[in-house]
Amino acid sequence: MATSEKLVIIGSGPAGYTAAIYAARAALKPLCIEGYASGGLLMLTSEVENFPGFPEGIQGPELMGHFRKQAERFGTRFISKDATKVDFSKRPFRIWVGQEEIHADAVIVTTGAATKWLGLESESRLLGKGVSSCATCDGAFFKGAKIIVVGGGDSAMEEATFLTKFASEVTILHRREEFRASKIMLERAQKNPKIKFLLNVDVEEILGDNSVTGARVRNAKTGETQVLPCEGFFVAIGHEPNTKFLKDQMHLDEKGYVTLPKRPTTATSVEGVFAAGDVQDVIYRQAITAAASGCSAAMDAERWLEAQHG
Ligand code: NAP
Repeated sequence: MATSEKLVIIGSGPAGYTAAIYAARAALKPLCIEGYASGGLLMLTSEVENFPGFPEGIQGPELMGHFRKQAERFGTRFISKDATKVDFSKRPFRIWVGQEEIHADAVIVTTGAATKWLGLESESRLLGKGVSSCATCDGAFFKGAKIIVVGGGDSAMEEATFLTKFASEVTILHRREEFRASKIMLERAQKNPKIKFLLNVDVEEILGDNSVTGARVRNAKTGETQVLPCEGFFVAIGHEPNTKFLKDQMHLDEKGYVTLPKRPTTATSVEGVFAAGDVQDVIYRQAITAAASGCSAAMDAERWLEAQHG
């Protein structure tokens, strides 16, 4: 038997939990399907220095714990599993969590984005055996080790800088000469005596049988290959939206992000379904902007439900 809900939030993180706080305070009794990876990407972060209200900084998981507690305080209910399938073709909307079926008058999607990988066979084979995407989670395993970080954005700079706490040497590999990283984070990495840069290189293979021993890279300009010894290999090349379960149910852009045709509102291509956070944001992708859009989505959903049911 399916259960019926007024508002279901699919996803968590700053967007989902903020939507839950606002919706719960508006007496919508939201159900938040927060996912196995509840709390979103900040759960994998160490120090968050740029979330207003915390002048000394705060650990990512602690911040998300506060968000969740605040949502719970006003009556949000949680399912700590993933939504596996949706049917948005008619109302009430149908959402499945495994075998469990849930009906919803309105939905807010806040499933965020997941780590992007290089896609090499050796990368998946050596995942957890020296290959990682989370310096905060795994950095301490690499005390005194040589580490490679791949990427040219803020994530790569942040991971590399963090990893110098443990590593003897960190090499940032980037496929171009120009960086996407912000000036301040790039300069911080450039000034760090433990960080080296190798530019215009593509990774061909991560080497090692049972643990990482190095990486073979090719210079994109000269075609020359070289082997760089390392024990840790961190991938920091961005993220992709968690929208596979939404395919064919609503409009997504070519990269899979949910589109919002009625910006600045959070309405999606399906009337009654709203989206907030990284799942719809290719530009800002910050905790604070995700939280703000979660607030907007809750207010949009509330107004829409009121117009439907009076
Ligand atoms: P990003 O800005 O999209 O950068 C990804 C980097 O990885 C780019 O340099 C890209 O190279 C490279 N890349 C992508 N796919 C690749 C592939 N298949 N092989 C090799 N290299 C590849 O992603 P991000 O660094 O994760 O940052 C995302 C957002 O989060 C940004 O807005 C950033 O400012 C923010 N952020 C902020 C902080 C902070 O303020 N503390 C920390 C982390 C992230 P190309 O440049 O050649 O495309």
